[in-house]
Amino acid sequence: IERTLSIIKPDATRRNLTGKINAKFEDAGLRIVAQKRIQLSLQQAQQFYAVHSARPFFGELTEFMASGPVVVQVLEGEGAVLKNREVMGATNPKDAAPGTVRAEFAESVGENSVHGSDAPETAAQEIAFFFSGIELV
Ligand code: ATP
Ligand code: MG
Repeated sequence: IERTLSIIKPDATRRNLTGKINAKFEDAGLRIVAQKRIQLSLQQAQQFYAVHSARPFFGELTEFMASGPVVVQVLEGEGAVLKNREVMGATNPKDAAPGTVRAEFAESVGENSVHGSDAPETAAQEIAFFFSGIELV
C-alpha cells in the first residue's frame, strides 16, 4: 500500500479549509495516517523546494510557503501518489478539472492550496523531511 506526502498550503489554512480538503482526500479513498500543523521558516521552504531553485518563481513560492501555517500530512491508499494528484487537480486552477481541490479552492497558480509528491521515490524523501519514524504507524 502506497503513501504520499501532502501539504495544505498557507492560502488554504488561512481560509480554514483543512477539513473540506481532507474530506476530498477521504472521499477518494485516501487515509490520513499522519498530520501536523507547522510554520515553515524561509530556509525550510527553500530546502523543501530545492528542486525548483532555478525556476523564476522560486522566491515567490518559498516566501508564500513560509507566509503562514501549513498542514503536512501522509496519505495512504492504493496508488496514493497518483490518486492524490488526481484529487488535487492541475497546478493552475484555471486548468483544474471540476471537483478537484484546486478547481474549488485555489486562488492562483502560485497560491494553489495543496502540494502532493509527484512519484513514490520523492514521496519517501518528502515524508522523511517532515516526519520521524515514531510519528508513522
Ligand atoms: P506541487 O509540487 O506543489 O504539488 P505541482 O507539482 O502541481 O505542485 P510544480 O511544477 O511542482 O507543480 O510547481 C511547484 C509549485 O510551484 C506549484 O504548486 C505552485 O505553487 C508553484 N508554481 C508553479 N508554477 C508557477 C508559476 N508559473 N508561478 C508561480 N508559482 C508557480
Ligand atoms: Mg511538484
